[in-house]
Amino acid sequence: MDLIDTHCHLDIQAFSSQFDILLARARATGVQRLVLPGVDRDGWDRMLKLCRTNQGLYPAPGLHPMYLPLHRPGHLEELEELTRTADLVAIGEIGLDYYIEGSDRAAQQELFERQLEIAARAHLPILLHVRKAHDQVMRTLRAKRFSHGGIVHAFSGSAEQARQYIKFGFGIGLCGTLTYDRARRIRAIAAGLPQEAIVLETDSPDIPLAGHRGEDNRPEYLPEILQILAELRHEPPAETARATTANAERLLGLRPCPPLHQAPAYRKA
Ligand SMILES: [Zn+2]
Repeated sequence: MDLIDTHCHLDIQAFSSQFDILLARARATGVQRLVLPGVDRDGWDRMLKLCRTNQGLYPAPGLHPMYLPLHRPGHLEELEELTRTADLVAIGEIGLDYYIEGSDRAAQQELFERQLEIAARAHLPILLHVRKAHDQVMRTLRAKRFSHGGIVHAFSGSAEQARQYIKFGFGIGLCGTLTYDRARRIRAIAAGLPQEAIVLETDSPDIPLAGHRGEDNRPEYLPEILQILAELRHEPPAETARATTANAERLLGLRPCPPLHQAPAYRKA
């Protein structure tokens, strides 16, 4: 299998002692490519280094709305600089989080808009983090005329909101929430989404799957999410795998996966 985990925090310090083994296990289960989203400025260097030194890892640095107190105006300038100097696949994860109490919504909005502008100037898609704020995010995307699309990570909105994102060029990120029988709403939405809009993600180490509660989530569990999604959609898993991989490639401009551990065959002139 050739699966893409479109949202995985494998670069975090808590994973550093197990990084190699977790990556090897992910690949052994068919997860050949992983997109690493940013959280705060301090995490970008390690993320970029891991993506430079490991085939199939792609960086999407950004300033996460949940970590507002950590961000400084200078970080936006550094992010813009990175769009010129590093090989990024997206700006992420960015957006609005109205679920956290006491967060300064005006400051979140400002941070989101500045990062949308950076993504637009660099012609990059975005990875959206949105909780209880889908309509406001959609209003902002429209007002900014953002046209580079991306992925709504760990989608938690309504079927109508999913429809609007898709119309706006976004894919819908489906995660381990699907593995819970009681998650009826998102399971029904996932079953009915157009095939060209679905992408897979684990959000490791967050959002543990049913059957793996109490442990850190890991990219090697992505095929379990695929299995459930395929069942919900009454599709053969191979078809859902092919579609989600092709969608992630299209939305993030990824090239099809080169065979691992094999150097490109250059001819001498
Ligand atoms: Zn995340």
